[in-house]
Amino acid sequence: MPSDRTQFDQRADMTAGKSSDNLDRVVAQARKASQEREKGYRAKALKLYPWVCGRCAREFTRENLQELTVHHRDHDHDNNPQDGSNWELLCVYCHDNEHSRLIDAAYGHLEPETKETSATHSPFAGLAGMLKEKKK
Ligand SMILES: [Zn+2]
Ligand SMILES: [Zn+2]
Repeated sequence: MPSDRTQFDQRADMTAGKSSDNLDRVVAQARKASQEREKGYRAKALKLYPWVCGRCAREFTRENLQELTVHHRDHDHDNNPQDGSNWELLCVYCHDNEHSRLIDAAYGHLEPETKETSATHSPFAGLAGMLKEKKK
């Protein structure tokens, strides 16, 4: 929609000096919206499960509860069965790790195709070594 686009640009020019304020507000609004959405299942998950990280077994109290997050086992944030079967409580560190591990795995999956012609080592051998290292 070109006309909307122009309008938006003009508004952006008019408020150019305050654009970072606007950005902050947009970010804050987006964050608030996702927090609102999260509140529903987070509250339920915290009632269903003990306040313990499912990976490192760190325990949580009301004081540090904000560091305990609700992870979706199938990574679909819209899949929130009321029995909690898709939720897992993880501390922020383990939660980060859980997601970056999947990103690693995705790259590992892509690599053989792009490297096939030049690679002399197996990408999977490296991946296996990395996984072994992380386990301990
Ligand atoms: Zn943890
Ligand atoms: Zn997650």
